[in-house]
Amino acid sequence: MFYLPTKIVFKIEAVKLAALQIQSFGKKPLIVTGASSAIASGAQQDVKALFADYQIYAEIKENPELDSIMRGAEVFTQSGCDFIIGIGGGSPLDAAKAISVAAANQLNLDQLYSTELFQKAYPIVAIPTTSGTGSEVTQFSVLNDNRSGKKAGWGHPLAFPRLAIVDPRYTLSLSAEVTKNTAIDALSHLLEGLYSANREPLCFPMIHKGMSLIIKNLPRTLKDPSNLEARCALSQASIYGGMTISQGSTSLQHSIGYPLTTVFKVPHGLANGIVMKQIMKLYKPAVHGLLEEAFGSFHFSIEDFFAWLDDLNLNADVQITEEFITQRVPEVMSSRNMLNNPLEVTAEQIADIFLSLT
Ligand code: NAP
Ligand code: ZN
Repeated sequence: MFYLPTKIVFKIEAVKLAALQIQSFGKKPLIVTGASSAIASGAQQDVKALFADYQIYAEIKENPELDSIMRGAEVFTQSGCDFIIGIGGGSPLDAAKAISVAAANQLNLDQLYSTELFQKAYPIVAIPTTSGTGSEVTQFSVLNDNRSGKKAGWGHPLAFPRLAIVDPRYTLSLSAEVTKNTAIDALSHLLEGLYSANREPLCFPMIHKGMSLIIKNLPRTLKDPSNLEARCALSQASIYGGMTISQGSTSLQHSIGYPLTTVFKVPHGLANGIVMKQIMKLYKPAVHGLLEEAFGSFHFSIEDFFAWLDDLNLNADVQITEEFITQRVPEVMSSRNMLNNPLEVTAEQIADIFLSLT
């Protein structure tokens, strides 16, 4: 089954073009964003121009914490907002979704993952300023429980943004590091569309196209960050990646990265990137044909891909200790994404992948 209720406007000057649609959701939006991305990208200015009244909530940090969701829901209610506009990378977009359901269902901190309590949501408009998570077209929200130090996601159909506004110009202000890490995140999502036991074959043409767009255009963008055509290609691939995981979800490729982010502060996309080869090798017996078909569609091979990845020089400073293995391997084993692996994965195999990083 393919279900994606989000309307997507993917265009230069998309906010202006979709002005009436954005305004149709209410009179006073809560603009949920991070410290600087909404302003640096230019998106906040474009959105503010559409409303006489709005409330800005700019307290979302990378890997949003539950506390910041609760405060956002409070601000939403107290300031009389009637819908939510998330502007930023995956962190503010995921936070916008969580704030929407938290405010609409009057959830408390302990209920932010209790999807069975989600009866309604305020409309969400998602405006990405990175090209990676695809959160603008998914029903997922990945949050960091600052009490347990555990990062985990939930998914609910009510959390699909009603409208995704994707203007690749907003990614022109990204640093090279964030550009690279987020493109690798999008690539992970596309690969997950082949890996997932819940894979949706209707997504395969998008997956193939998205992979080729990133492989061709990430090096071009890194060489010339102002190349708007290459930035457009990365935004397009990111949408395809989001559409892909919205149908088939993610697997070990993603859940193994979460502890690397919470413990060692490795950015999400980079955490996926440094285990990408190991996961591909692990899954290969189950997905060899699908990988060959995907890479073959743009005259690449798995070996070419590994060489391409090597050229990106992805690395992170992680010190894998025995304590880390003891604590975090069971956490990964118990994550909901593990149900989507294309073959059985053991705790020892996960430990081996972690240990390969030091
Ligand atoms: P992010 O955490 O949202 O942002 C990373 C950094 O980039 C922040 O410092 C941010 O600044 C900055 N930034 C963003 N846009 C910018 C721009 N245009 N110009 C300058 N700086 C900019 O990064 P992300 O990789 O997009 O999102 C990662 C999060 O998304 C993770 O928590 C991950 O788990 C989640 N995720 C969700 C899904 C989903 O389906 N929902 C899928 C994959 C990943 P500010 O601090 O000012 O914002
Ligand atoms: Zn991701």
